[in-house]
Amino acid sequence: MASPPAPRPERTDLSRGWAKWRDRKARFAPLDFRKLANAAALWRGFRAADASGKSNSREALSPMQAWPMSLSVEPTTSCNLRCPECPSGLRSFTRPTGMLDPDRLSALLSGPAGLGRDLVYLNLYFQGEPYLNPGMDELVAIGKREGLYVSTSTNAHHITPERAERIIKSGIDRLIISIDGADQEAYSAYRVGGKLEKVLEATRHIMDAKKRLGRRAPHVVWQFLVVGTNEHQLPTMRQMARTWGVDEFVVKTAQLDAPRDDHPLLTQDPRLRRYDRDPSGRWVLRNPMPDRCWRMWQGAVVTWDGQVVPCCFDKDATHGMGQAEDGAAFRQIWHSDAYHAFRESVFTHRAGIDMCRNCSEGTEVWA
Ligand code: SF4
Repeated sequence: MASPPAPRPERTDLSRGWAKWRDRKARFAPLDFRKLANAAALWRGFRAADASGKSNSREALSPMQAWPMSLSVEPTTSCNLRCPECPSGLRSFTRPTGMLDPDRLSALLSGPAGLGRDLVYLNLYFQGEPYLNPGMDELVAIGKREGLYVSTSTNAHHITPERAERIIKSGIDRLIISIDGADQEAYSAYRVGGKLEKVLEATRHIMDAKKRLGRRAPHVVWQFLVVGTNEHQLPTMRQMARTWGVDEFVVKTAQLDAPRDDHPLLTQDPRLRRYDRDPSGRWVLRNPMPDRCWRMWQGAVVTWDGQVVPCCFDKDATHGMGQAEDGAAFRQIWHSDAYHAFRESVFTHRAGIDMCRNCSEGTEVWA
């Protein structure tokens, strides 16, 4: 098994606290007057819709004259793994598979109508494994040229020492590495087809390259998706994260398509899952489901081939709002009748939308 970068004393809580503080500061760095005013307009629009949406007032939703603060753009739908709760892993998409072209991202973000002037956060992730896209570092660099905070999430199976250097040089601010087990058996119970050894090696390459190049970014996060097959390893994982010197360790509860008593991924510990039994014994999402959704205001998602979808729960683009070839097209779609009608339906009867019934909006997904 790969060993932690050496010599590296155990990371103290203080040094990890500083790293987190630096990362939070970096997230606010893109804010200027225009973006602050935009954020305030978004919040006012959201509050107005929340207050009046319940009475079916379409008018209260329409006048939103603001733009998303965050955007997720999908580098690819392809994936090397076969995770059981993921449509990329299950190869179950009905939409096409492909790779985001850097020119498409440039057209969205740059130029007079580009979204870069209003965005703060660019997440180069939706479905699939981003580093399968050979142009991934260029995609990051495009976001950085626009002055945005840029993040991604990876299963870290394609990070060689050379790639690690390119990743650091791309300027990415936040690198989330999925690591869902402290040994191969627990890891591959969810990350089917994956090798824990590769994830550890990739972590070492990234940490070493940061040190060699004298960079503080990216903020390296180990993300532990807690499921029934790995929950017993949580204390071991916390200790491993300290030993390996990553900047942050987070524990995420899992979204399950059909939770049930004998579901192997449902955790025993109720604090580590999103679901509970209702009085009739059915497994349901624990969080309340108010008719509101901040995500409909603050962000949107664009698939690799340019479809705008309302949020990251729309994995197969069932609620596609239109094709955004550039920033101007996106802005039209964002204020289109179809988008307003969708927002209105979330604010009047969220439970009537399939994906909204298994969505964590309004609750905590971090354990
Ligand atoms: S699934 Fe529905 S409630 Fe959840 S983020 Fe998307 S639109 Fe909002």
